Amino acid sequence: MKAQKRIALVAHDHRKSDLIDWAYFNRTALAQHELYATGTTGKMLEEKLDHPVTKLLSGPLGGDQQIGALIAEGKIDVLIFFWDPMEAQPHDPDVKALLRLAVTWNIPTACDRATADFIFTSPLIVDEYAIQLEDYSQYIRRKIK
Ligand code: PGA
Repeated sequence: MKAQKRIALVAHDHRKSDLIDWAYFNRTALAQHELYATGTTGKMLEEKLDHPVTKLLSGPLGGDQQIGALIAEGKIDVLIFFWDPMEAQPHDPDVKALLRLAVTWNIPTACDRATADFIFTSPLIVDEYAIQLEDYSQYIRRKIK
């Protein structure tokens, strides 16, 4: 991945204020990167940061899956996903799918402020980095009988 990262940000409703607060604190660092977000999170971020955000659909309407698809296509480098540990979501399967794809494609993922802080204070956030992927070629070439 390049020095300028493509960063996806998502927050469930009860965690939006936490994410917006974190993003505002890190606004200078975030301004160096390309930002993507689910609909409502993206609208709030754009207003607070005064920085363009590519807004996808709202999470429960397919936004989480859109971000998952971008990860699978190699178009997202970092995921900041403040999901709510205290409340079931109507789109819980999408939440699980997004987290699964982030691991499948080995992208740095923060689900809380502490991890987001660790990612953003890493020198790698502004440097090139070669992602090491599992070798999925055998899986792709497997014979189905
Ligand atoms: P939202 O979606 O930013 O549109 O609220 C977030 C989510 O629930 O996945």
